[in-house]
Amino acid sequence: MDWASSHDPRFDSFVLGNAPLKRLATGFDWVEGPVWFGDADCLLFSDIPNDRILRWSAETGISIYRKPSNFANGNTRDRQGRLITCEHRGRRVTRTEPDGTVTVIADAFDGKPLNSPNDVVVKSDGTIWFSDPHYGIAMDYEGARAEQENPCVVYRVDPATGDIRVVVDDLNCPNGLAFSPDERLLYVADTGRIFTDDRKHMRVYDVTDGGTANGRDFVELDAGFSDGFRLDEDGNVWSSAGDGVHCIAPDGTVLGRIHVPETVSNVCFGGRSRHVLFITATTSVYSIALNRRGARTV
Ligand code: MG
Repeated sequence: MDWASSHDPRFDSFVLGNAPLKRLATGFDWVEGPVWFGDADCLLFSDIPNDRILRWSAETGISIYRKPSNFANGNTRDRQGRLITCEHRGRRVTRTEPDGTVTVIADAFDGKPLNSPNDVVVKSDGTIWFSDPHYGIAMDYEGARAEQENPCVVYRVDPATGDIRVVVDDLNCPNGLAFSPDERLLYVADTGRIFTDDRKHMRVYDVTDGGTANGRDFVELDAGFSDGFRLDEDGNVWSSAGDGVHCIAPDGTVLGRIHVPETVSNVCFGGRSRHVLFITATTSVYSIALNRRGARTV
């Protein structure tokens, strides 16, 4: 199989020799934010520069889910299955209700507008954790240029009360984030301030009651950098990289990689048994069936 390479025997049983890397759709500009809707048997993802969220299903192919999308980026689902979306130009995080109406979850901190929410996860207690780097307000390509009024941090918002607090503040520009399957750890990618040579790496934090503690370096990839990632049921991190997807053990060892012919932005698990990895990569969306299941956390 020429689409995967193993660096550790643990990886050998994760990939299947007869499961191809498939390009499901192409022709986009920069896709990110994949999220699987098993109940609708479809994938939603953002085509950020084209200001739209697209829908893919094996039966019907590509259709437009939302346009304009306020230059949406990261997507996930809450514990009730509702779509949670980060909007660059809207400078907010929203929830899409079952009837299609959009509820604003967060659009300001300390009385000032958020920067451009990028990626988002929901904890089992219903709280919504999202990164707020400056990429969507640093240029017009993925949003609209605007003054930065808040630092680039990770927030936790409780949609039941509206309480919003900073939970990670030691990164230059937080991007992708995800919990370990037991929610005791929070992984956050730092992709650095745009147009600088800031270090690009991933850190991990202990999750405390309402925040994080004990941040430490987790991994720095040798090909491109980690933008978005998700974890499998055993806590391995499946991360975007410049040359595809890297699988990283909880101890920080890169176990292996899936080679994708375009720079990867993000991934999510989906399919019938959460055993399919969906991959957003520059102009295309790919999938590959694995001998792994995604963590139940979304
Ligand atoms: Mg991102």
